[in-house]
Amino acid sequence: MHLCDLAPAHIQAISPYQPGKPIAELAREMGLAESSIVKLASNENPLGVGEKARDAILATLGELARYPDGNGFELKDALCRRYGVAMDEIVLGNGSNDILEMVAGAFLGPGRAAVYAQHAFAVYPLATQAAGAQGIQVPARNFGHDLEAMLAAITPATRVVFIANPNNPTGTFIPGAELEAFLARVPADVLVVLDEAYTEYLAPEQRYDAISWLQRYPNLLVSRTFSKAYGLAGLRVGYGLGNPKVIDLLNRVRQPFNVCIPALAAAAAALFDEDYLRRSYELNQAGMAQLTGGFNRLGLDWIPSAGNFVAFKVGDAARVNLRLLQQGVIVRPIGGYGMPEWLRVSIGLGSENARFLEALPLALD
Ligand SMILES: *Cc1c(COP(=O)(O)O)cnc(C)c1O
Repeated sequence: MHLCDLAPAHIQAISPYQPGKPIAELAREMGLAESSIVKLASNENPLGVGEKARDAILATLGELARYPDGNGFELKDALCRRYGVAMDEIVLGNGSNDILEMVAGAFLGPGRAAVYAQHAFAVYPLATQAAGAQGIQVPARNFGHDLEAMLAAITPATRVVFIANPNNPTGTFIPGAELEAFLARVPADVLVVLDEAYTEYLAPEQRYDAISWLQRYPNLLVSRTFSKAYGLAGLRVGYGLGNPKVIDLLNRVRQPFNVCIPALAAAAAALFDEDYLRRSYELNQAGMAQLTGGFNRLGLDWIPSAGNFVAFKVGDAARVNLRLLQQGVIVRPIGGYGMPEWLRVSIGLGSENARFLEALPLALD
């Protein structure tokens, strides 16, 4: 027997995460110049790294022979000042993906279960599966979370509920009042992971303050990232906010030096770069109007999104995707999310959005 056949069955059954195609890879495959390619596939911030973060990164170069501060004091201190939380209510992650995996490592395992929604972020089923736990996928309602059905799906074995707000890849949004009412009804021995990867993109009238709920709900973990609105996807840094006991447990399964020195410094600086955040938000609002206007002109269905991306319906998505790639435009097929007729496009710079909208009719032909 091959040694790989002896790996646990739940590991062998994992279907790997499919990331957006890197620009360099498409350039190699299609013989295109990298500079001619537009990547709107991974919900990255098209503004690039902000000035404050860049300066902070450069200032760390001389320290890189050392290990990072495994405790992440400087970044946690910045988060305390920014959000009024305590040090022991914060866990730092190598991206918020790392937080999700720590949750699975600490709370899931064989004989346990996690509840998540159909079309929700792919890492929830992945992390659940990797832990050997049962995944309970609850059918979506209008492409979003059906909180009533998710409550009903909780079994005695359920230890975790994952919720993405806004959700990726559908962009659907749950109003804060509904989330709060949901929290009040979830059993106290079930951890609710509220994944707010795109919360900085919410319109003023959509905003709500999940951090203020932490005192009342010790079973709430809020997870956030510097990868999206803060423009630091390549550095891999995110954080979880929760009850000190939950945070303590997550820290036990955390790799000792999971966030690198430049990432810690850049995130602490980015947190107070209000100007960059405002420009990112405004660019996103304008880009969303540009793209959805384009879809309307082409008569395409799209799902209203509260994030920095939008899902749109094209029919044979594999074919349309290939024909976009041939024109040097990378978007994201979401067949793996149970949406084989849809594509997801991230909001880019105005010029990038325009390139995409130019290529799309040709791809649909
Ligand atoms: C992008 C994303 C994340 C995690 O991104 P990181 O880069 O690992 O921080 C988490 N949740 C959702 C819903 C996302 O879309």
